[in-house]
Amino acid sequence: MSLADLEKQALAELESTSDEAGLRAWHNKYFGKQGEVILATKKVGTLPPEERRAYGQEANRVKEVLTAAHDTAEARIKERALEQSLSSEGIDVTLPGRPLTRGGLHVASRILREIAAIFADLGFQIYRSREVEDDLTNFELLNMPPYHPARDMWDTFHTTVPGVLLRTHTSPGQIHVMREHCPEPIRVILPGMCYRYETITMRSEIMFHQVEGLAVGEHVSMADLKGTIVAFARRMFGEERQVRIRSSYFPFTEPSIEVDMDCIVCGGKGCGLCKRTGWLEIMGAGMVHPVVLKNGGYDPAKFSGFAFGMGPQRITMLKYAIDDIRQFWANDLRFLRQF
Ligand SMILES: [Zn+2]
Repeated sequence: MSLADLEKQALAELESTSDEAGLRAWHNKYFGKQGEVILATKKVGTLPPEERRAYGQEANRVKEVLTAAHDTAEARIKERALEQSLSSEGIDVTLPGRPLTRGGLHVASRILREIAAIFADLGFQIYRSREVEDDLTNFELLNMPPYHPARDMWDTFHTTVPGVLLRTHTSPGQIHVMREHCPEPIRVILPGMCYRYETITMRSEIMFHQVEGLAVGEHVSMADLKGTIVAFARRMFGEERQVRIRSSYFPFTEPSIEVDMDCIVCGGKGCGLCKRTGWLEIMGAGMVHPVVLKNGGYDPAKFSGFAFGMGPQRITMLKYAIDDIRQFWANDLRFLRQF
């Protein structure tokens, strides 16, 4: 058979092919191992040299034409098969869709944002400070020299580099922010993670958030501190909250106070949450110690300031009646999905 006849015959057969099985058979007949197009191409070697070139060119042309025609037919057959399956099977629109699971912010992040928003309304900016500190900033500049017994209040994670540790509280941030902005007035909160070498129990973790607050300026007084705390407690826990102040001790504040608010469960009558006292402790605070002010670059004769520190995890536990602090970092979705 001549190449022209082969081409004509193959195209005609392809035209009448209407399904995928027929297409495969056609492909096998012409392009399989013993396919007619393949055999015809191989024939070039048996021809006299002067005929080879023309024959070879013609064979390649036929091969290209048939390959293109095959691809067109294949697309036509596939499209028809799809149309048939769509019209015969249809789509069941009553099947329920697969629900997309939605991510959300961790409850610890939510409460940090809530606290930040409340203090932003009171004119406080956020100051971020490092989690790896030196002994100098974490203790000494905060009025705790190496011999100071108050250091026992913080069980510290030390690194292998002498004098470098994981901060035990957010208070070293006070030194950083004061040195950066001195002698301008300051009103900031310093949120962040702190680390203590403690036994992990329902009430204590080795890592936890703290939110420190610091205001420094001329004529900053205890009354400003109290007003700030009351405003915060009422925004966070409800307008009817009462706040109680007790005297306390911290090395970096003088005078120092502990702040309680009336129990959100019993309203002061006494219950399990407040251990029958009617009060819940929410933060420690005080007037910035003159030594700390001086270490921050401020003249204690001219400037004064207040500072407070709270545990957002504790605030969250009070707000949502969570009884185990370990839940925060356990990554248990059953716990996290509730918020
Ligand atoms: Zn109570």
